[in-house]
Amino acid sequence: MKRIDEMYDVKLHDPYMDRSHYKDPTICPKCGLVFHNKRWVRNEELKKKFEASGTEIAYKLCPACKKIEDRYPLGILELRGPYLLNQEKKQLILNTVRREAANEEFRNPLARIMQIKEEDGRVVIWTTTESLARRLGRVVYKAFKGDLKISFSESNKFIRVLWERE
Ligand SMILES: [Zn+2]
Repeated sequence: MKRIDEMYDVKLHDPYMDRSHYKDPTICPKCGLVFHNKRWVRNEELKKKFEASGTEIAYKLCPACKKIEDRYPLGILELRGPYLLNQEKKQLILNTVRREAANEEFRNPLARIMQIKEEDGRVVIWTTTESLARRLGRVVYKAFKGDLKISFSESNKFIRVLWERE
């Protein structure tokens, strides 16, 4: 079992997180997040309050919905190896991934899974933040052992997390 993390303290530049692009308040028409006081929050009451107050509101996709629209992941987690041939085990892993993603989205509403694709026995998961891909990789590694490798993509635009088990 091994774990290689080439970018433990490195933070990727997120071109979608330039806060000056957004007026305060902005509401995302797709997912309903509110941008207020330099933060994106999921807060129905705040959203209703703004909509009822007559404040001038900007409607613009939040960084997460924009990445999904542009198909621009910041993290790609790939699961592979013969271990996944066992459907039951694969489902357990995917349940773990989804549960952890829900936890993370609670902490950071901009952290989301963009898509989960299965191809040739591999599972490829795109995420809107690098930290979510990293976290999902670590959680799978912790629960299911195997090998974990975290590195930059060749383009340096996203991180690649590879988990593999025989
Ligand atoms: Zn949104």
